[in-house]
Amino acid sequence: MRTIGIIGGGQLGRMLAMAAARLNFRTVILEPQADCPAAQVANSQIIAAYDDEEALARLAQACDLVTYEFENVPVDAAERLARSLPVYPPPKALEVAQDRVTEKRFLNGCGIATAGFHTVDDQQQLERALADFSGQGVLKTRRLGYDGKGQRVFRQASDDAAGAYEALGGVPLVLESFVAFEREISIIAARGIDGAIACFDPAENVHRNGILHTSTVPAAINETTAQAARHAVGSVLSALGYVGVIGMEFFVLADGTLIANEIAPRVHNSGHWTEAACVVSQFEQHIRAVAGLPLSDGARHSDCVMQNLIGDDIDTLPAWLSKPNALVHLYGKAEARPGRKMGHVTWLT
Ligand code: AMP
Repeated sequence: MRTIGIIGGGQLGRMLAMAAARLNFRTVILEPQADCPAAQVANSQIIAAYDDEEALARLAQACDLVTYEFENVPVDAAERLARSLPVYPPPKALEVAQDRVTEKRFLNGCGIATAGFHTVDDQQQLERALADFSGQGVLKTRRLGYDGKGQRVFRQASDDAAGAYEALGGVPLVLESFVAFEREISIIAARGIDGAIACFDPAENVHRNGILHTSTVPAAINETTAQAARHAVGSVLSALGYVGVIGMEFFVLADGTLIANEIAPRVHNSGHWTEAACVVSQFEQHIRAVAGLPLSDGARHSDCVMQNLIGDDIDTLPAWLSKPNALVHLYGKAEARPGRKMGHVTWLT
């Protein structure tokens, strides 16, 4: 029986481990937090930092291949592992996804439109960049932002930018032009070791407080826009020589034009619906891809809505369990803190 190492022990790792088990793979989780969501359903856990050399050596020893469940895996660690066993997705994907500027340049290089942007390394540059975008834009940390953290929106020229650079921590930033989008969509796709590509249908996403609230499938877009999303993600997968599942988020303009926002080199929250509405979920698709097994075609048998259960939402569990056609998935987190993803529910519509 082969063993898959998973770096990161959150809910995505948990769902990957469950999918791996169904295909007869063992899983080992590398995660500093003991009894993490993924380790509860995996064969074993190495409790250590992601860049702990001794722990990485043990992981390589214990596994036939390694994958990961979050994009901030240290690139050095992934590259070190890749010298002794396959690491999928390729470490290059981490490098691209970890820095919003590297990511935009990469996407533009693939012929994919993004928001216009300026790098911002001090307050003066911020003010010049804002002036260039007529006072509007979204200021983001280049690295380590997630769920809307490390961001500041400038809606109009009168918004006060004083101190805004320091307020985001005095780290390298990027100012993006403000995209007046009509809706947000994402597409989850996979590329196999043999280069085969399969896409799930695009989902339409609604965020609340910077955190994904719902994903609805099908998205309210026409076939031309859906085709453009499939084409863009296909270009990204091929350019990276990618293996595994990727998530790619887009803004959709009123005329259907797509502006790419970001890529996530892993299974993605906006793909959780696939476990209820497709025969093969994004989690199994990822395991199939990294293990060199045939991919599913990504076909969907039902329309659906996925909703995240964040913090106290978990108290509404009895109602969700009584809802017809609803699949509840909980993450094994003991404490419901505000903003913490506790689980999700997908109902067929
Ligand atoms: P992100 O962390 O880049 O995914 O951004 C979080 C959310 O902020 C997105 O899902 C959008 O709703 C909004 N947002 C981010 N960037 C922009 C932008 N350049 N223009 C307009 N809205 C944005």
